[in-house]
Amino acid sequence: MTLKAGGATLAPVKEASLVVGEIFTSVQGESTYAGLPCTFVRLTGCDLRCVWCDTPQARRGGRRLARAQVLARALDPGTPLVTLTGGEPLLQPGAILLLSELCDAGRTVLLETGGHRDLGAVDPRVHKVMDLKAPGSGECARNRRENLRHLDARDEIKFVLADRADYEWMRVTMRAWELVRLGPALLASCVWGRLDPRQLVAWVIEDRLPVRVQLQLHKYIWGPEASGV
Ligand code: SF4
Repeated sequence: MTLKAGGATLAPVKEASLVVGEIFTSVQGESTYAGLPCTFVRLTGCDLRCVWCDTPQARRGGRRLARAQVLARALDPGTPLVTLTGGEPLLQPGAILLLSELCDAGRTVLLETGGHRDLGAVDPRVHKVMDLKAPGSGECARNRRENLRHLDARDEIKFVLADRADYEWMRVTMRAWELVRLGPALLASCVWGRLDPRQLVAWVIEDRLPVRVQLQLHKYIWGPEASGV
């Protein structure tokens, strides 16, 4: 949307700013990039309500900043890796443009998304880390299967599992949706305090399941209260 005021053309209002919860530098805690220094831009707002959500603070509040300001602050620490996360970052129209601007600046860019918003407009240079919500999240019905056609070998699919039923759902879904053939890395992680990683590893080995078991590194470093992404 372009507005005219007194003959002057203004930048599209919705895309020109973003509501930001925090911008910080740490190490990436999840994905195949786990352990690498990374600058995070956490946008505010989420239209899901996962029962085990560990970032409820990202669902409300935040501060509206010009997109150019967000870009400058994301680039300033100089980490080669930048992650756009939330909440659900794709709720904000300016996120799509910010992702491309980060790529233009030469950064490796990760997008962490719940997977229920359309990925079609995301810059193909972005590495998408997309959740498939298992039944234990309470949001399984929001999975958007059409998004799979926007994923390839540079992308990742993340399952967060609360129990054996979630594990079985992942196993069946991997086969039914031919996720291995699709190419993204397949990540399986545990809801903190609900599923023991040793149990998950035992199931994966027993089934020879081609998933990458991952731990939420930030919780092991800073404790269980450390926010997820
Ligand atoms: S875990 Fe993520 S997607 Fe789920 S409610 Fe929390 S912020 Fe939203």
